[in-house]
Amino acid sequence: MRKPFVAGNWKMNTDSLSSVSLAKAVADGVMELAGERLDVAVIPPFVYISAVVGTLSTTHIAVGAQDVYFERQGAFTGEISSSMLKDIGCAYVLCGHSERRHIIKEDDELINRKVSAAISGGLLPILCVGELIEQRKADETEQVVSNQLEKGLEGLSEEKLSAVTLAYEPVWAIGTGLTATPEQAQQVQSMMRELLSDMYDGQLADEIRILYGGSVKPDNAAVLMSQPDVDGLLVGGASLKSEDFIAIIKAAC
Ligand code: PEP
Repeated sequence: MRKPFVAGNWKMNTDSLSSVSLAKAVADGVMELAGERLDVAVIPPFVYISAVVGTLSTTHIAVGAQDVYFERQGAFTGEISSSMLKDIGCAYVLCGHSERRHIIKEDDELINRKVSAAISGGLLPILCVGELIEQRKADETEQVVSNQLEKGLEGLSEEKLSAVTLAYEPVWAIGTGLTATPEQAQQVQSMMRELLSDMYDGQLADEIRILYGGSVKPDNAAVLMSQPDVDGLLVGGASLKSEDFIAIIKAAC
């Protein structure tokens, strides 16, 4: 049985006061569930991570980062390493979020180096994959997602793979209010699990959690979670409102 996992990606939002109050409100709302019935993480902007880690230190809610650089240290102005994130109490890190792929222009090779460095640095990467609307319309979803998955995981041993969470996030559903139907999410996510089984082995593929992300809201969370290969949710906009994020977490377990 895969334990459900709900993560809230705050993107470039909040400030020093609201990041702490949001974290507190989420903790108050799901204190009994987090860690017991499901795993929960919040993913603030880098500069508020320490404050949020402090706020959540007595809870079972984990904290993640939205990105990481693959080098360990040195002359890489502006970048943050996995050991730095680990040092301030981060557990998870997003790799290959669609906004980084398409706005910042990260490619699969860079994302693969980040995934690998994150694991070596003791973090748990959440590797995001997903197709553009043109690719879905051209019936290329399977090919695009498989390619991102194969390249994103390239060179990773079985042992390292067990640290990875995957997130299927169709780009056309992120921040748009358009959600993949539960059937669309299931179809892609079961294909991803089959591919993992070919790349590694069936048991490992069975254990890996695959989240769905893209306009998840309190009213669609439960039906998405009812799909056999949807093991959790990666939530953007709705994770900024504590009532909505709490409702999504409750719907997911
Ligand atoms: C995301 O940022 O990963 C995301 C899924 O955003 P939203 O829920 O706003 O679509």
